[in-house]
Amino acid sequence: MTKLVQGYGPVPCDVMLIGEAPGAEEEQEGRPFVGKSGQLLQRALQDAGLSYEQVYITNVYKHRTPDNRTPTQEEIFEHWPMLVDELQAVQPKYILLMGATALFAFSGDGRIAQAHGTRVARQLPGNPFIFATYHPAAGLYKPGLKQVFAQEIQTFAQVVNGEYTIPGIG
Ligand code: URA
Repeated sequence: MTKLVQGYGPVPCDVMLIGEAPGAEEEQEGRPFVGKSGQLLQRALQDAGLSYEQVYITNVYKHRTPDNRTPTQEEIFEHWPMLVDELQAVQPKYILLMGATALFAFSGDGRIAQAHGTRVARQLPGNPFIFATYHPAAGLYKPGLKQVFAQEIQTFAQVVNGEYTIPGIG
C-alpha cells in the first residue's frame, strides 16, 4: 500500500484547494502538490495574488494510484470521510475544485469541460463558495487550457480577495 498523503496548510484556513490524488513526488515528500502540477499551481496562484502560505491544499484521494490513474468511484467514496473531517477542521469560506475527480466528489458529475469557471451548487456547513476549474496539469496535455486555468485562478482569487462578486453571493 502506498503512503497516505494528508492535506497541508494552516488550520483553520479561509481557502481550500482540492485536487485528485498524490503523484510520486507527493508520496515521497508526504505533501500534496509538490511536483510538476504543484509548480504550475503555485505560479498561477502567485500571479493571481494568492500565496501558498495562505491556502490549505488537499486531494480527494490520498494514496497514489497505480500508474497515476484516475481514482475509481469506490476509492473516492472510501476517502470521502477524510475529506469531511478536513472540511470540519479547516472551515474554508472558499473552495476550489481542481479537475474532474474533485468536481465529481462534490457534485456527482465530473464533466469539468462544462463546469469549469462556474460555481458548484453543493451545500456544505458554513456555506462556502465552491468554484470549479481544470486540474493544473490539464494545460500540459492541452496547451490552450493553461490560459483558461490561469484566468479562472484569477477569478477565484478575486472572489477570495473581495474584488469580484459573483451574482447571488453578496
Ligand atoms: N495532482 C494532484 O491532483 N494532486 C497532487 O497532490 C499532485 C498532483
